[in-house]
Amino acid sequence: MKITALAGGVGGAKLAHGLSLILPPEDLTVIVNTGDDFEHLGLNISPDLDTVCYTLAGLANPETGWGRVNESWNAFANIEKLGGPAWFRLGDRDLATHLERTRRLKEGKPLSQITKEFCEAWNINPTVLPMTDSPVRTMVETEEGELAFQEYFVHRRCEPRVKGFRFDGVDVAEPAPGAKEALQSADAVIFCPSNPWVSIDPILRVVKQINKPVVAVSPIIGGEAVKGPAAKMYRELGIEPSALAVAEHYRTILKGFVLDNADRAFIEQVESMKVKIRAADTLMKNVEDRARLAQDVLHFAGSL
Ligand code: GDP
Ligand code: CA
Repeated sequence: MKITALAGGVGGAKLAHGLSLILPPEDLTVIVNTGDDFEHLGLNISPDLDTVCYTLAGLANPETGWGRVNESWNAFANIEKLGGPAWFRLGDRDLATHLERTRRLKEGKPLSQITKEFCEAWNINPTVLPMTDSPVRTMVETEEGELAFQEYFVHRRCEPRVKGFRFDGVDVAEPAPGAKEALQSADAVIFCPSNPWVSIDPILRVVKQINKPVVAVSPIIGGEAVKGPAAKMYRELGIEPSALAVAEHYRTILKGFVLDNADRAFIEQVESMKVKIRAADTLMKNVEDRARLAQDVLHFAGSL
């Protein structure tokens, strides 16, 4: 079965990794959010793309879910000592990625090409694509005004109350080369358990149309996000965070929905939306969990 998966960072990367353990590499394409990308210390940083690639390559830090394993922080510590910005932590190994990405972008290479080259260097066999090669920047509208995504997410630790989101540049952004084709040739499109507001929505705004059966996996378990601000965002936008809220979020494009066994109480309500449903253990604590959930999702997608 040919699968195209949409992913943000931490949650998306885990399921993408599970899928990569089961599918032949030519049958898996992962389209990754770049709305979180930003410039810092003069470098082009693509946090979600790096999380997905590090995870697929086995280079990710298993504790944090972001950044690299066996990381050291010499450059960062010395930047801090010089009075440089210390709110965004960059490890030494990670810095190499940003330095080299920035250099190649300056040479005029598109982000998708650079990502392909990095994947080759890291022995990543499935196809990983940024959603677009042009800059899209997620802006968070908060009670304290509009904040650039990393300013909100890292610098302000998601504290300001959210009122809405804007994806700067999205109207002129074309999907990265290969993204449309991957969506068209897929048997199913899987929305990984990523943040619906700031990881999946920006990708959907860029790709616009999906004509293949969509299966989404809920990032909300028992009314809470496993990690990050997804539940807080729902609450601040006046929506009770739940697997049901996620299904409603995607209802116009959803064919199947995977929620956690803890959320079986919502099965009937989701079914009444004419969406097929599967309950599973969706918490991915280790690699076995990732593979098992991926297998469940693939079986389910195959049955639709
Ligand atoms: P980010 O870009 O790093 O914030 O990552 P994503 O948007 O891809 O993932 C964040 C979402 O993943 C959060 O809403 C979490 O609730 C969800 N998430 C993280 N780990 C898991 C997991 O093991 N299972 C499920 N179902 N969701 C998860
Ligand atoms: Ca992200």
